[in-house]
Amino acid sequence: KTLIDIKQMVKTYKIGGETVTALHRVSLHIEKGEFIAIIGPSGSGKSTLMNMIGCLDKPDSGEYLLEEQHVGKMNDNQLATIRNQKIGFIFQNFNLLPKLSAIENVALPLLYQGVSQHDRVERAKECLNKVGLADRAYHLPTQLSGGQQQRVAIARSLICNPPILLADEPTGALDSRTSQEIMEVIKALNEEGRTIILITHDLGVAKQAKRVVQIKDGQLFENGGNFIETSAL
Ligand code: ADP
Ligand code: ADP
Repeated sequence: KTLIDIKQMVKTYKIGGETVTALHRVSLHIEKGEFIAIIGPSGSGKSTLMNMIGCLDKPDSGEYLLEEQHVGKMNDNQLATIRNQKIGFIFQNFNLLPKLSAIENVALPLLYQGVSQHDRVERAKECLNKVGLADRAYHLPTQLSGGQQQRVAIARSLICNPPILLADEPTGALDSRTSQEIMEVIKALNEEGRTIILITHDLGVAKQAKRVVQIKDGQLFENGGNFIETSAL
């Protein structure tokens, strides 16, 4: 079943008198439950595409359907609503609040929704459990390793039970062994039916997805298999 349908999406930025085209008529179809990696070098348009898929920004032209809703036609409030309901974000640098414990970081999105203290704690514990970090719930981020911090961030991304996880270089700040542990957590979340969209410049990471799409100079390329012409990167 179709989850995301992007057609002929164009996004430009204006800097001074110049126009930079970050996405050139990008089309991308993602089904529910897929695990897709988008790989490309620096400056290829990955962040721009992530901002589009994540409903953080709107395209200049083209169409973006997310569960049959027209994202391109939404105002900022509608974008914020669909983002909160549909998408969990995972970042390279974890983006945890340093003065809050792991469980407080995880529960934070629920605070804005007016969920009761009791339910916030229960749900945050479940999410920490899911990433294997229940025993670190009351640690501060500085008391956790990089891999543990990323697990907290993944738990936070799950707190509103979004159907989509959008991960931007989730292993970019981690050593290779810890990266692999985080990839295993992400794979397990896909196994339980969540759609994973992973953005990376690391071929070893991308290859662990079930489908790999390359982005280069704002254009997408897909070759059907899991073979990637590395020279094309
Ligand atoms: P990546 O994430 O792959 O490094 P980006 O999406 O950040 O690529 O950038 C794609 C192109 O768009 C680059 O040429 C970049 O300089 C330009 N760009 C991205 N964001 C902006 C912005 N906010 N203002 C101006 N140019 C931008
Ligand atoms: P990364 O490749 O590590 O994701 P980027 O180069 O894409 O980092 O930059 C990160 C942020 O900076 C993005 O949100 C992007 O939109 C913005 N950005 C990128 N290039 C420019 C630019 N030339 N001018 C202004 N903002 C930019």
